[in-house]
Amino acid sequence: MGKKCIICEADASYKIKDTSDFYCAECAEEHFADLTLLVKVEEEAQRLRQVLKEKIADLEKDVATLKDVPND
Ligand SMILES: [Zn+2]
Repeated sequence: MGKKCIICEADASYKIKDTSDFYCAECAEEHFADLTLLVKVEEEAQRLRQVLKEKIADLEKDVATLKDVPND
C-alpha cells in the first residue's frame, strides 16, 4: 500500500494511534520521544485484517442461518 511519512515522504513504518498521520522510523523517533504512542503500520494492518476476518465470519454465519430457514 505504501504509506508515506508526512514529514519527509519516505516510506512510513509508524502511524499515530487513531489518526492517519504516518511517519518513517527516523521522523517518528525525532518527533516522539515515546514511540508507544505510535503503532507499527504492519501491526495496524494485521489488526484490520483480523477485524475483517471476524466480519466475514459473522456474514458467513448469517448466510448459514438463512439457508436453515425452511423454503415454504
Ligand atoms: Zn520521515
